[in-house]
Parts: sequence; structure tokens; C-alpha cells
Amino acid sequence: MPTSLRRLALVPDPYPGESLLSWVDALAGLNQISRLQAMRFAAFIRPGGSSYYPSEYFVAHLPTEAMARVRVTTGLSATQLRRMTLMHYTDGVLPPPPISDPRAVAAWLKRLHLVHPVSSRACPACLEESGGRWPLRWRLIWSFACARHRVFLLSTCQGCGKGLHQVLPDPRSLAMCGQYKGDHPGNTCLRSIWHMRPPQLLDPHLLECQRRLNELVDHPHRQGTQSILRTLRLALENIRINYDEAPSLPDTDVILHRRWHNHDGALWYADDPLLMAAFIKVATLGGLSTSQDSAKQADMASWSTDGFPQLYTDGPPVNRFGGKCRAIACPSWVPPGQGYVAYAKDEPYVLCSAHVDHAVAPGG
Ligand SMILES: [Zn+2]
Ligand SMILES: [Zn+2]
Ligand SMILES: [Zn+2]
Repeated sequence: MPTSLRRLALVPDPYPGESLLSWVDALAGLNQISRLQAMRFAAFIRPGGSSYYPSEYFVAHLPTEAMARVRVTTGLSATQLRRMTLMHYTDGVLPPPPISDPRAVAAWLKRLHLVHPVSSRACPACLEESGGRWPLRWRLIWSFACARHRVFLLSTCQGCGKGLHQVLPDPRSLAMCGQYKGDHPGNTCLRSIWHMRPPQLLDPHLLECQRRLNELVDHPHRQGTQSILRTLRLALENIRINYDEAPSLPDTDVILHRRWHNHDGALWYADDPLLMAAFIKVATLGGLSTSQDSAKQADMASWSTDGFPQLYTDGPPVNRFGGKCRAIACPSWVPPGQGYVAYAKDEPYVLCSAHVDHAVAPGG
């Protein structure tokens, strides 16, 4: 460890669940320096380098050597630092990462389409209350709403349309968007994120879905989390690919009906909290259990109030979220809790009761 590293006098405590970029901003604010200066002083790169431009994937992953340096300058342990990066979610909410080379991790995250490593979603009221501390979970596609303020999260700036809380350019204040309008340096978007108006969430069913997703995401390594989120993801993909066969959107907030019907063929729910909410509404047609126990609510069996028929007893209970029958040319949509679930290459798929004999034997 080089002896040139010095411990900084003013280091903020990380907020529970805070993202690394948010904590760096708090460090900058406390020391009245810019974000880039805070990154340099805290030695996120090896000191002595001529200039430091952080990767746009700064929040994704910190190399071991960087964590060792930042530990000296700030006193934060490797565990505390890792918890603020997207690596915190791997082996649970996210699958295990392939390798720990930062560039490989960035490419891998991009392929997953489960996280927004470069920008964040936002609840303006939460940010104003916390003075600009950004939860890490806002970078997951599973965060579509703020259950506390009952609003859908914003995914882009209402002034310039660009992604929120990006590493560059360095913003002038914690509240400000700070992106360049139309790629013109010097033409900075001055909109206050804290004063933006997100759409209200009125549907209590979706509010409950977001609460349960938060419970899963906040316990990323708990048994069952991976399985629920994996089958939910498969169900959302199923709806996207088979939009015409999927059930129509049940009664919910007007803004979601508008989004669901005016999609113009682009059903990229991962990029859009409103579309995501509509998809989740369809995937949870089977209802939610009424248990008040948070562990039970997050448990895989309680997402649907219907039964869970199992084709093979050694498989987990499935068809929680419904899906199109996989038999060739069968247009049936099998609602949650009904039909049969079979596996091909470890991937569950749904069959309607007329096509149960189309199941491939396990291991076949
Ligand atoms: Zn909020
Ligand atoms: Zn903006
Ligand atoms: Zn069928």
C-alpha cells in the first residue's frame, strides 16, 4: 500500500442501501469539493495518474485494489464499499458475475437488461427528504415506484430527457440534473430533480407489488428471491413476446392504460417504469396473498392466491405469473396457478391443460 495515501478528515456515513455515486456526492458536499475531486482525493484511482475520468459504470463494480485504497482514505471497509455497488445484488437478485474485470462486468450487466448501471430512477420527494441520497435499488428494473410517496419513479429528466444521476458531467449541485442539453458542453440542464412531478400511483395492488419487490431486493441473497425474480422476469418476457395473446391490462391507473395501448410496438419495459408496472399488473392477475407477514409476502408461494400444480415433484412450485402455452400453434394464455409447468434446459415453461403431454421428460 503506497504511503502517500492520507485519511480524509470529513467522511460521511453511507446511508442504508445507498449507491456508491451518491455516497461520493455526499463526500464531495461535506468537503465542499467537486464530485471528481472527491473521487481523486478518496483515491478511487491510483494516485499519481495525470487525470482521472471515472467509467460511466462507476456504480457497477470496484476493483479490489481501489477498495483497499479507499479504505485507507475513508475508513470504509471493502464490505461497506461493495454493498454500494451493483455487485451487492449478484448471486441473488442478479446471477453470479462471470469475472471481476471491470470492463467485462460492465458488458455483462448490459447484456442482463436487469439493471441501469449508467443512470438511476428517482423519486423526487425521497431525494429532497434525504438531501440527495440515491438508493442503489433505483438502478434495478424492479424499482418502478416509490411505495412511500405513492408515485411512479422517473427514469429520465423532465427537462432534457436524459438519464438521471450519471457519473459525468460533474453536476454543480446535488439537486440539479446537470446533463448537457443536446450534447453541448456549456449548455447545462439546470432543472431541479427534487422539484419534478412524477405520475401518481393510485392502484393499491401495484403498490403492494412494489413493496414485495423491495422486500426481495433489500434481501438479495435470501432463499427464494432468485427463483421469484427469475420466473417473474420470464413472465414479463412472455408478455412482451406474446403481447397479442396476453390478457388485456386489468383495471388500474389511467396513465398505465395509456402506456399499455400506445406502445407503437416498442415494449421495452426494462427502460420504462410505467410499462413495467403495467406488465407486472398482468403477471400478477392471480392476486397476492393477504398475509401481513413480510417474509411470507416475499415468499414465492404467496405471490398468487391460486394453487400451484406441479408436474414434477422435485421442481419448485411455478406458474406463479402465468404465460402462453408453449405447444406449437396453441394460442392459450394460462393464468397464474393453472396449467402445467415443465422444464427445458432448466428453464420453466407453461403448458395449457390440453397440451400437458407435450412436456419434455426431466433431463430430456
Ligand atoms: Zn419517495
Ligand atoms: Zn435534465
Ligand atoms: Zn396449449
